[in-house]
Amino acid sequence: MVEHNGIQYRAADAHAHIYPGKIAEKATASVGDFYHIPMQNVGLPHVLAERGGEAGIDRFLVCSVATKVEQVRSINQFIAEKCEKYPQFVGLGAWHQDVADIQGEMEEIQRLGLRGIKLHPDFQRFQIDDPRMLPVYEEAARRGLPVLFHTGDSRMDFSSPRRLMKVLEKIPDFTCIAAHLGGYTEWDTARRELQGANVYIDTSSSLFLVEPEKALESIRHFGADHTMFGTDFPMWNPKEELERFFRLGLSEEENRAILYGNFARLFGLA
Ligand SMILES: [Zn+2]
Repeated sequence: MVEHNGIQYRAADAHAHIYPGKIAEKATASVGDFYHIPMQNVGLPHVLAERGGEAGIDRFLVCSVATKVEQVRSINQFIAEKCEKYPQFVGLGAWHQDVADIQGEMEEIQRLGLRGIKLHPDFQRFQIDDPRMLPVYEEAARRGLPVLFHTGDSRMDFSSPRRLMKVLEKIPDFTCIAAHLGGYTEWDTARRELQGANVYIDTSSSLFLVEPEKALESIRHFGADHTMFGTDFPMWNPKEELERFFRLGLSEEENRAILYGNFARLFGLA
C-alpha cells in the first residue's frame, strides 16, 4: 500500500523492464544512452521487486524488447520464469516484426501465461502501422491480449501517435496502451491525434518533464479510467515517480483508478 495525505492506495507499476542477470547492466546502460537519461537502477527482477516493494507497490507489469526475431522465444521464457518466481509480476511477451508464424507465437505467449505484448517501434525499427504488424494486432485483439507500445519520440517517426491512430482506425476493437502519456516528447500531438475507447496511456517517463497542467490535460483527454501509473523501471525510482504522480493533485477516486483499478480491470486481476 502507498500512503498519501493519510489515504492508503493499492498500487501497481504498469510499465517496468527486466533483463537477465548477464545482460542487465549493458541493456540498462544502452537504454540510458538512447534517451540521454541517467538510469536510476539496474533492470534486475529482484531490484524491481525490492524498490517497488519499498515504495508500497505490489503488482508490476514486466516486459523486455526483442531487437532481433531470434530473441523472442528466449525473452518470453525469461519473463515467464520471473513471473513464476515473483507472483507480483504480470508478464508481457516480446514480439518482433519478422515473426513468421503469428498464430504459433501467440499460442506460445499464452501457453507461457503472458498477458499481452510489449513493442518498442523505435528500438525495433518498424513503423507502428507497418502492414506486417496489422495481422499481429488483429490476432492480439481476438485473443484479448493488450499491446503496450512505447509511443512518441520527436527525433523519429516509427512510434508516432498518428501511426497508432491509423491502426485503431483499421482495427477498432484493438486494445492498446500508448506509453508515456500517449507520446514521449509529443504530448500535444498525442492528444490531438489519438482517441478511442480502447486507448490506454501510462504515466511512465513523462512526469519528470511535463508540466503538471499538461499531464492533467493528457489524463483528462484519455480519461482517468484509461490511465495507469508506471515507472519505466529501471529508468526511474518507484518512490520518486509516486511523488511526482501525487503532485498532480488528482482526486482520491482518480488516484485509485490510475494506481490500481484500471490495471486490475485490464488484466483481469483481483
Ligand atoms: Zn517501455
